Amino acid sequence: MEFEKFKTMQFPRDVYVGHGVLANVVPVAGRYMKSGSIMIITGKITYDLAGKEVQNLLEDAKYEVHVVKTDKANTENLEKIEKSAADLNLGLIIGVGGGTKIDLAKKTAYDFDVPFVSIPTSPSHDGIASPRASIKRANSTLSQEAAMPIAIIADTVVLAKAPFRYLKAGAADVISNLTALLDWKLANRLHGEEYSTSAAAISEYAAKELLEKCHLILEGVEESVWLVTKQILASGTAMAIAGSSRPASGSEHLLAHALEMSNPGQSIHGEQCAVGSVVSMFLHGGDWQGLAAAYRRMGLSIRAKDYKIPDAVIINALSTAHSIRPERYTILGEKDISTNAAEKALEITGII
Ligand SMILES: [Zn+2]
Repeated sequence: MEFEKFKTMQFPRDVYVGHGVLANVVPVAGRYMKSGSIMIITGKITYDLAGKEVQNLLEDAKYEVHVVKTDKANTENLEKIEKSAADLNLGLIIGVGGGTKIDLAKKTAYDFDVPFVSIPTSPSHDGIASPRASIKRANSTLSQEAAMPIAIIADTVVLAKAPFRYLKAGAADVISNLTALLDWKLANRLHGEEYSTSAAAISEYAAKELLEKCHLILEGVEESVWLVTKQILASGTAMAIAGSSRPASGSEHLLAHALEMSNPGQSIHGEQCAVGSVVSMFLHGGDWQGLAAAYRRMGLSIRAKDYKIPDAVIINALSTAHSIRPERYTILGEKDISTNAAEKALEITGII
């Protein structure tokens, strides 16, 4: 048989991470913008945090800059942004914000085929370095294909201003790669799904690095932000190599999505992933106690009560989470888990 295997990988070209790297937005614009103007997609708070500075830096360098302040990542806001983008000759789109602004920016950049720069203001999840965007439709938040950032500028001075809760959540999003990897291996064994050893190795390294250094994830310490952000970027690299979110998204993410859909506003993504990873690790027969201990050490609760999630909601979420993304095979299987079994797993792991 002839050799026919091939792979496509897309990586960010420039990654700036660390203290005071924000000013690099000017050389980045110089490098990747052919013509036209720049759109900064940001939010009210994140504009004050970093958006304004980015705007000033670019305007001082004589770029024409349009600032769009938006809100939630839903189809309504996306349409509004795209409507205003359609009238402009854009050469670069910059997302300055937490998850939602980055998601809107990377989707707009994808739809207009314009280079996209990611400037995160919160280290709360691994979307800052991935080509997927979660845009809310009527009642689902499935992730969609979007632009891979051409450059990422993750300034720890900016990121350190985000509430500590976001940093812990970002760390949990990376630590929960461990169960995503077990799911991926399972899908490979049972369904022959393509598995990338190199992507898995990087993803595992990122997760273990934070698991082992969880005692160094501290409030108000810029170096803690550095520690977590580097591994968020490593997680992004793993996804880029795999060409999918597989190395960083398995059953724990299915549960996170199920929780988000049934009970929005109580817990943030990384916290849902933390909860998901503990019960998923239990189902895999792995060291779920070790995971729970690391989260405890960081001061991140895995108790549903602490997020005001009723027992019945999380039991139902665990039992039906498999159906959210049926093509993504995980330990949750292909049928609903019985309510009794789901309840038992959540009780044993101390989630309910
Ligand atoms: Zn995630």
